Amino acid sequence: MTDIRRMHPATRIIHAGQHPDPATGAVSTPIYQTSTFAFKNADEGAARFQGRDPGFKYTRLGNPTVAALEECLAILEGGCGALGAATGMAAINTVYVALLEQGAHVVGTDSVYGPSRLVLENEYRRFGVASTWVDSSKPENVAAAMRPSTKMVYIETPANPTMKLTDIAACADIAHAQGALLVVDNTFASPVLQQPLALGADVVVHSLTKYINGHTDVVGGAIVSSSPALHDRLRKVHVAFGGTMDPHQAWLILRGVKTLGLRMERAQANSLEIARLLEAHPGVAWVLHPGLPSHPQHALMLRQMAGPGAVFSFGVKGGLEAGKALIDSVKLATLAVSLGGVETLIEHPASMTHTGMPKKEREAAGITDDLVRISVGCEDVRDLIADLEQALVKAAAAVPVGA
Ligand SMILES: *Cc1c(COP(=O)(O)O)cnc(C)c1O
Repeated sequence: MTDIRRMHPATRIIHAGQHPDPATGAVSTPIYQTSTFAFKNADEGAARFQGRDPGFKYTRLGNPTVAALEECLAILEGGCGALGAATGMAAINTVYVALLEQGAHVVGTDSVYGPSRLVLENEYRRFGVASTWVDSSKPENVAAAMRPSTKMVYIETPANPTMKLTDIAACADIAHAQGALLVVDNTFASPVLQQPLALGADVVVHSLTKYINGHTDVVGGAIVSSSPALHDRLRKVHVAFGGTMDPHQAWLILRGVKTLGLRMERAQANSLEIARLLEAHPGVAWVLHPGLPSHPQHALMLRQMAGPGAVFSFGVKGGLEAGKALIDSVKLATLAVSLGGVETLIEHPASMTHTGMPKKEREAAGITDDLVRISVGCEDVRDLIADLEQALVKAAAAVPVGA
């Protein structure tokens, strides 16, 4: 095949890393469900362990099905190499463990995926790692938080549920000016919409659980590096800590990723149509969607992304009670956390995921009582709109008269 790296993203996701099986010619990558690999003789075993022979040895250290997915992800992100991980958090922890040390400091996006921040604050702190969390939608906040000991800038963009974007190229300049690395969680955009390595990031992490697999049936994670040296360092630590990927999991994700382009196209179009409709709806107070000109960072979206994605937030008039009534009234959208699947998922952080957080702290983080987050799926948009419209009628009815 001609150079796959020069093809368009929709072609790359179908062909990258996916060669007919050398043993049998199977067009679909087989599931190499084995824990270990036989050597022909002692010399071959020795050559593999010394790295002179790149063949497989033991599945935690590498497996052909996992390797096919890793090659695919490296090509999609334009990286030098990728590592499959058991979950998104396993990938993120490998990055922290491999690239931080005692006394190191991290500057991160304040509204990152909760556990990405909490492990640093609660666990890595015990090993002498410090972290500062800022609103990274303003690069000057990142610059102001840098210390001589800052080894990593860790950003997520878009970050939810506040839908803030972070300027990747600006953060790469800030990090590199001080010899720090820029790590980007690219889960929300996926490589079809955003390629952080091309904008100067050093490492990309993913929860494959979301858009890349896309079918709400498997968890997984990945790390993609911009240089062979970073990839080798991350690989060494990853296989030693053991949060690696299983071949069956890799096969499911390889199956899912093939339709990433089609799914994202449909979900994104649905999402934008719904967002426009909600923006004009009398029962809706506000809509934050990076694809709408009303989003404060719409220009940055156009500059650094190929499209705004399919997750957004909106405010229901009537606050907490109305928000609860809305999510209790939807019939097609499913009430659940997670995102990026073919089915539409909806959640109300104030009454669900963030109930434990003090209201003041929650509101300071932009998670107001009325905020509803929706991950729009691939259903027929007319059915989704009808569902939301009937739920908004019930939400309005739940608000006491005069409130
Ligand atoms: C879900 C998610 C993660 C964690 O991934 P798991 O596969 O659940 O471990 C990390 N980052 C973002 C942005 C996520 O949405």
